[in-house]
Amino acid sequence: MRIYLATGNAGKLREFNELLGAQFELTMPRAYRAPDEDAQTYEGNAAIKARALAATLRAGADPGAVVLADDSGIEIDALGGAPGIHSARYGGAALSWAQRRALLLRELEGVPQERRGARFVDVLYLDRPAGEPVVVRGTVEGSVPVHERGDGGFSYDAIFCYPPLGRTFAELAAHEKNRVSHRGAAVARLLEALHA
Ligand code: IMP
Repeated sequence: MRIYLATGNAGKLREFNELLGAQFELTMPRAYRAPDEDAQTYEGNAAIKARALAATLRAGADPGAVVLADDSGIEIDALGGAPGIHSARYGGAALSWAQRRALLLRELEGVPQERRGARFVDVLYLDRPAGEPVVVRGTVEGSVPVHERGDGGFSYDAIFCYPPLGRTFAELAAHEKNRVSHRGAAVARLLEALHA
């Protein structure tokens, strides 16, 4: 089954390829342009992304296109759940990822370990030409270390520690992260729904 992925994020594409396996052929359309994500929920923003790409593809290249979008973010308890749905542009679109991670670490300066809880959230929205969309959510609980650690992964991985393994997501091998991550949990639910 071919699935078009409504993202321009190569890190997400890599993880989806590993998580969905060989029964799905994932395509990230080269011409993908992210629409304005102006909903106030992950679900709403994932729907906007999936529907926009589905409309474009079905009007042209592939009338039967099946489109998957995800909307994700990191929620930090001591910041009242920020950056949440605003994770991709926290601190402004001009910041590099290193600067964005540094900004969050500065905002948490002096916050003791027991109040550095955080979670990653991932919502998937699968838009099919016929039938209801499939919408699923996955989360993973963790904490923000005082300094970033690791050079694997992408975006916020180096400042998200997964306590059961005592390592940040950027210190885990891809298969270790996928086994416990928010995206891994969401994909497992998506597969359950598709096979139900
Ligand atoms: P969006 O889902 O593309 O709107 O953006 C969510 C933001 O959170 C992006 O900047 C992602 O890079 C970041 N994010 C989502 N999932 C992960 C992850 O697994 N690791 C690190 N950062 C993530």
